[in-house]
Amino acid sequence: MKIRDILKEENKTFLSLEFVPPERGGSIDNIIRVMDTLMSFSPSFINITNHPPITHYVEMENGIAKMRLSKRPGTIGLAVAMKYRYPSVEVIPHIVCKGLSKYQLEDLLIELNYLGVENLFVIRGDAGVSDGNERPKDEWKYAKDLVKQISNMNKGVYLYPVDNAVPTNFCVGVAGYPEKHYESLNFEEDIQHLKEKIESGADFVITQMFFDLDVYKRFVDAAREANIDIPIIPGIKPVVSLRSLRNIPKRFFVNIPSELVKSMQEAKTPKEEWMAGIRYMSKLVERLLDYGVPGIHVFTMGHGKSTKDLLKAVFGRQRVTGQFL
Ligand code: FAD
Repeated sequence: MKIRDILKEENKTFLSLEFVPPERGGSIDNIIRVMDTLMSFSPSFINITNHPPITHYVEMENGIAKMRLSKRPGTIGLAVAMKYRYPSVEVIPHIVCKGLSKYQLEDLLIELNYLGVENLFVIRGDAGVSDGNERPKDEWKYAKDLVKQISNMNKGVYLYPVDNAVPTNFCVGVAGYPEKHYESLNFEEDIQHLKEKIESGADFVITQMFFDLDVYKRFVDAAREANIDIPIIPGIKPVVSLRSLRNIPKRFFVNIPSELVKSMQEAKTPKEEWMAGIRYMSKLVERLLDYGVPGIHVFTMGHGKSTKDLLKAVFGRQRVTGQFL
């Protein structure tokens, strides 16, 4: 089922969960275990993040080897494995522009189409620190370029000129930044670039994490003002320690409200920090639901317990019996 159709279902607030593939050489058993424990909350869809290849220099027996690979490969495999394991849940692999040429992306999209993947989340990705000149020559510059490529394929127009090409049928989500993307000159410019992604064919937006309802409201108001009328799903990160809270601004360029900082700082033990985080985040989710969001998207980072505690705090016992609103 297409995410845009799930989002149209009336009287239903949905839950979606985002997972990160394990590091190279890791097993997917842990992710499956975490997903199994969260299935009782009846998520409507699961996103699997994607990590583009970057250049690594690795010490080997016969010297230093240069390797260009992803630290966390396996997005497509994991997404399809999840689709088989949880037939009632849609999966959304993330597809990143960086690291692949547009022609390699065309091949990847054909692969996904054959696998029966209907929903994609398209992002540009960030340049790897050691990337230098290693990037493919025909790489897309912005996410909107890949969204457009997919829209064209949905009309049967491939980059390689083929007659009577079979149209693909993808539904596409893109990223939005309630506190603006870090490269944008200002909020208004960022909204205009978001609009370009929608005009290129995106069906829904999932936001970067934020910690203040007013930040989300301001973003949605500005998007609506700019005639962006597709669903804007709030991205929620359960924060349960002061240490992880401190890492968030430098990694994600978002502001942490004083109320959350204070409650975390006042906590005397890790358990109190955990509870302070869950209390704050569950209040935020409740306020979002009251405000009328279409659903919530939780960045689990593979941590089942904090996600479960958050969902239990918001939805209480009925969620554990498998009904989500
Ligand atoms: P874009 O939409 O291309 O925007 C990037 C910057 O360019 C913005 O500042 C934008 O305003 C600007 N811009 C856009 N168009 C133009 C233009 N025409 N002219 C000038 N400037 C322009 N990263 C991963 O590597 N893997 C993931 O799985 C992943 N998942 C994510 C999930 C979510 C929900 C979010 C919010 C982010 C995710 N990211 C992921 C991070 C994302 O890749 C980075 O934030 C990246 O820096 C920007 O990606 P984008 O798709 O928003 O880029």
